[in-house]
Amino acid sequence: MKTCPRCESSIDDAARYCVDCGAPQTEAAAEELDEYVQRQARKVATDAGASGDGFDDESGGGDDDGVAGFVPTEELTDREQLWRRGCYVAGYGTIVVALTLVPRVGAFLLILGGIAILPPIRRLTAEPLGSPLKREVMAGLYALFAVLGAALLYLL
Ligand SMILES: [Zn+2]
Repeated sequence: MKTCPRCESSIDDAARYCVDCGAPQTEAAAEELDEYVQRQARKVATDAGASGDGFDDESGGGDDDGVAGFVPTEELTDREQLWRRGCYVAGYGTIVVALTLVPRVGAFLLILGGIAILPPIRRLTAEPLGSPLKREVMAGLYALFAVLGAALLYLL
């Protein structure tokens, strides 16, 4: 037996979710729950706002917390928000720094990277793909652009 880090009840070692509070016990379970919630949220959003083409307008307005209202567990919300906040900080920080370097080629790569890590962009990847790209993919894109951009800034 092990103990749920969230509610401290005893749960099976192999359990992926806590039987008492539902908290995911593995990274994979957390990711899976996360994707499930986002799918459900999209479904709800599409059903509720069945206006026009069903393309829910999440890109505009900056109200990125619309989906969080459907999230059932606090833990997920915290996780989500932490990630989101980190992504915004990293994304905007990178873009702001890059803008000061802008005539140089590397700056444009840094800007692309900064944009790639912003949560609404990740959400947009759900449209063609069915489910959003994993955060790790977006973070990887960000890192790739950042490294390339920095290399170009250094070399040119
Ligand atoms: Zn628990």
